Amino acid sequence: MSAKHALTIAAVSKVFPLGRANGQGKTVTALDSTSFKVLDNEFLSIVGPSGCGKSTLLRLMAGLEKPSGGAVNFRDQEVARPSGRIGLVFQDYSLLPWRTLVRNIELGLEFQGLPGRQARDKALEYLELVGLAASKDAYPHELSGGMRQRAAIARALAVEPDVLLMDEPFGALDAHTRLLMQRELLAIWEKRKKTVVFVTHSIDEAVYLSDRIVVMDKDPGRVIEVLDVDLPRPRTRKNPDFGRLTESILEMLKY
Ligand code: ADP
Ligand code: MG
Repeated sequence: MSAKHALTIAAVSKVFPLGRANGQGKTVTALDSTSFKVLDNEFLSIVGPSGCGKSTLLRLMAGLEKPSGGAVNFRDQEVARPSGRIGLVFQDYSLLPWRTLVRNIELGLEFQGLPGRQARDKALEYLELVGLAASKDAYPHELSGGMRQRAAIARALAVEPDVLLMDEPFGALDAHTRLLMQRELLAIWEKRKKTVVFVTHSIDEAVYLSDRIVVMDKDPGRVIEVLDVDLPRPRTRKNPDFGRLTESILEMLKY
């Protein structure tokens, strides 16, 4: 029996040259021989301290960077450049301020060559999915952080990628909005059955959301553990096993 895997990260390393101020010719190993697989339709989180290579790993999976060693494969093909099959959502929303929400979401669809009418219909469908249909004509600055992040998620989903990569998407939100967004993201994931790779430095968030958690450490950036989260859904933080798993990950990271 072999579960299908969407992404394979095989002995991937990434070395960056250091800036001149830190000495000419020196390098930093952002990732050191990192391997794991992302299964089809799973919700996988990556946790670890700042600087352990989480964003670098996501950029490699998105095809925005090339590995220094090893390979990143999507299904059986090397990820050589960005594609519509793999979508990316950042912490800072990256919505265009001069476009309304619906026009922001149409943008990616226009790049795909979808005719105007169809792009509009699809943009509206995804705004509806994230609960923003009523704000379709609003500009990003007129919205709260939570609404902007929902719009960014709608934009990434609208091009219908197979894999959604999310880099600390809720990091800039207040605690209450963050909890609401976690629930909404799970609802969308369950409805649309996407493969999600979710980077966070919140262990609580990872345990709440994920099927599996990749735990990383730094200097050099590397995977120290890949855990199954065997907690029933919908999850509650009141479950003692929730706290136990969170504690054991904290322990691993020696926070
Ligand atoms: P994280 O997202 O886990 O905080 P990053 O992937 O951003 O970690 O960074 C991992 C390491 O690689 C850090 O030491 C960072 O300074 C370094 N790094 C990341 N991107 C670059 C780059 N473009 N040039 C040089 N160093 C980089
Ligand atoms: Mg990062």
